[in-house]
Amino acid sequence: MRSRFKTASDESNLTPARHLEMPALQLTVLGSGTSMGVPTLACHCAVCESPDPRDKRTRPSILLAYNGRNIVIDTTPDFRFQAMREKLDRLDAVLYTHGHADHVLGLDDIRPYNLKQGSVIPIYASEETQATIRRQFAYIFDAAPTESSVPRVDMHTINDPFELFGLKIIPIPANHGPVSVLGFRFGNAVYLTDFSSVPEKSKELLHGLDDFILDALRYTPHPMHSNVQQSLALVSELKPKRAWFTHICHDLGHEQANAKLPEGVQLSYDGLKLEVQV
Ligand SMILES: [Zn+2]
Ligand SMILES: [Zn+2]
Ligand SMILES: [Zn+2]
Repeated sequence: MRSRFKTASDESNLTPARHLEMPALQLTVLGSGTSMGVPTLACHCAVCESPDPRDKRTRPSILLAYNGRNIVIDTTPDFRFQAMREKLDRLDAVLYTHGHADHVLGLDDIRPYNLKQGSVIPIYASEETQATIRRQFAYIFDAAPTESSVPRVDMHTINDPFELFGLKIIPIPANHGPVSVLGFRFGNAVYLTDFSSVPEKSKELLHGLDDFILDALRYTPHPMHSNVQQSLALVSELKPKRAWFTHICHDLGHEQANAKLPEGVQLSYDGLKLEVQV
C-alpha cells in the first residue's frame, strides 16, 4: 500500500508544481495521555482495560519533522519508548511547555543522540521552566567532572517568536493553574497542552488555525486543566478547521468520547500524524 507520506526517493520524481504542494512539516503525536498515562497503574476501569490501541496513551508530547530536522516538544517519562516506536534516528532540538514531571523527566534519554550526532542538543524553555529543569537535572548542569555520560544540552530562553532551522515558532503563553505554560504555533498549527485558561492576548495568536491540538483532560472540571466542555467552548470561539484533544485521562474512551464530539473535533491518539503547511 502506498504510504500517506512521500519518501525522499519519491521526491525526485515530482514535478516542481507538485513539489510545492508537499507538506512542509509532519507532526506526530508521540503521547496523548495525562500525567499518569493510560492505562493508569493499578486501575481496572473499562478504558484502562480497553483493547483499542488508541486507548493506550503515553505521556503528552509531539514530534515536528521538517527540512530533515526532528524537534520534540517536551521529553516525557515515555520519551525513550516513543522515540523507539517512531524510529527517531536523529534529534535536533527540544522545546519545553513547562516543568512538570510528565513533560521533562525523559530528558536523560537524549544521550544516545548526543553520542550519535557528536553534538550538544539545543533546548528551549521559559526562564521559569529552565529553573525547574536545572533543579530536577542538577547533574546535567553541575560543572563537576563525571565518568558517566550525561545529556549535553545548550539552554535557550524563550521570550518572543524565534526561528528554528528555518521554521518560525510563536510561543503562546497560557495559565496552568498557578503555573505558566507555553503553547507553540508553527504555520497554521498550534500545540497547547496543560492549560486552565488562555489570556485574551494569547487568543490573538490562535486565529486562522488548520489544526489545534489542545488539552482536554476529562469531562469533570480540574483546577489545572481544561476539560472537554471548556475546550469545546474555546474551539467554537477560535474556529480552527480541526481540533484534537490531548492530555487525556482514563475517563474518556477513544471511541465513545469521539462519538459525542462535534464535527471537526476529535481525540488525538499516540502515533497520529498530521501534515502541516508552514
Ligand atoms: Zn501534563
Ligand atoms: Zn482506569
Ligand atoms: Zn502540567
